Amino acid sequence: MVLRLGHRVQRDRRVTTHVGLVARAFGATGIAIADTKDESVVESLRRVCETWGRRDFVVVDGVDPLEYVRKWRESGGLVVHLTMYGLHIDDLIDEIRASGKDILVVVGAAKVPRVYYELADYNVAVGHQPHSEVAALAIFLDRLYGGKELRLIYPDAKIYVEPCPRGKRVVVRERQP
Ligand code: SAM
Repeated sequence: MVLRLGHRVQRDRRVTTHVGLVARAFGATGIAIADTKDESVVESLRRVCETWGRRDFVVVDGVDPLEYVRKWRESGGLVVHLTMYGLHIDDLIDEIRASGKDILVVVGAAKVPRVYYELADYNVAVGHQPHSEVAALAIFLDRLYGGKELRLIYPDAKIYVEPCPRGKRVVVRERQP
């Protein structure tokens, strides 16, 4: 599950949608958008799930982020905050995977309040240069799942891509579960 902090309506709409798209495509169970309600982001993500599958992908907005993190920890889950100030991903990823716990991945937009650095079980840096929450999440999930997620086709997909060397080949399914 991914917790998106600091979403600003209008300004972050596209980036937050992309955080959700990466979460879905790369195998996370859902996205929770902190504090703000943004029906347009929620709708875009639901539409993609409807067509490309993973209708059980959780999309919630307006959640209280501190309560969300506390509840996640209380129920035995692990909290991973992605930040360039953390420890290097390659030094932590095996330990995180081996925990076998449900992982909440926290990503920011603008400045992330200090409390999240303290509440997180791991502050993970995807390199120590400032870049993007979309890139950081993609690389984190890719390392976590060892690249297997890139071959995902969801069983309830209405359409999916058949790889081909040139052009586009899309398979339309007659029936989905
Ligand atoms: N200046 C902000 C701060 O100090 O918290 C960071 C803003 S950055 C555009 C938005 C988010 O991208 C961060 O909160 C973090 O989750 C993620 N991010 C950016 N660079 C990262 C890196 N090198 N490693 C891990 N996460 C990163």
